[in-house]
Amino acid sequence: MTFTYVIEHMEEDETTPKSLPPWVELEYAHMITLAGINGRVEFTHLSQNSCSSLNDRLASINEPAASYRVHTRSVMELLEQNNIPITRVCLLDPKAQTVLAPGDGKIFDHFLFGGILGDDPPRDRTSELRQLGFPSRHLGPMQMTTDTALGVTKRVVDDEVQLNAIPYVDFPTITFNAKESVEMPFRYIVNGKEPILPPGMRELLHEDLNKSFDF
Ligand code: SAH
Repeated sequence: MTFTYVIEHMEEDETTPKSLPPWVELEYAHMITLAGINGRVEFTHLSQNSCSSLNDRLASINEPAASYRVHTRSVMELLEQNNIPITRVCLLDPKAQTVLAPGDGKIFDHFLFGGILGDDPPRDRTSELRQLGFPSRHLGPMQMTTDTALGVTKRVVDDEVQLNAIPYVDFPTITFNAKESVEMPFRYIVNGKEPILPPGMRELLHEDLNKSFDF
């Protein structure tokens, strides 16, 4: 079964020529490797500018990854144009009533995420997608970054791993050196003791930390 992961972009574009905020670009690039080589990733509702900058970025990834497309169309337009009924599309929603389980891979072949940078406390921006009427599932009580949510979903529906059998860490502290560290208010998959972050994210977090102290 080929699973399609759809990320409806919901962040404002930056005015810089790159247009996608750097954090978003790192997460999106991470998603196509997390989705697995048999997966498909659709990035929807991007500006024209972001489509081309994201395409360039994804084309530069040289490790095994899912196929992908970037669209200015919204997820609803994409589904309508491909005659995909919303009953086949599962919205990953922190406020869903039902937890995601391996059997959901037999009910749904599309999994939809809000392309939203996690915020602390969450402002429930996923509600914009909820009101479109998709069936939904949650991934547990803790907010995950979108790439983590995609990675967890892939392990549950494609690899058929139970949600609670995946090793997590909540609110990990990322340590840069003896004096500098930052706590991330999310749940991550762990590899050993380390949270799995998008390649390049540690460096970006360190830069942001320094920026935030540049008076
Ligand atoms: N803070 C945002 C959510 C950011 S997380 C909000 O207020 O809604 C970005 C996306 O990852 C969400 O839109 C959702 O699709 C998915 N996600 C993150 N954590 C999740 C969880 N615990 N259960 C289900 N989906 C989750």
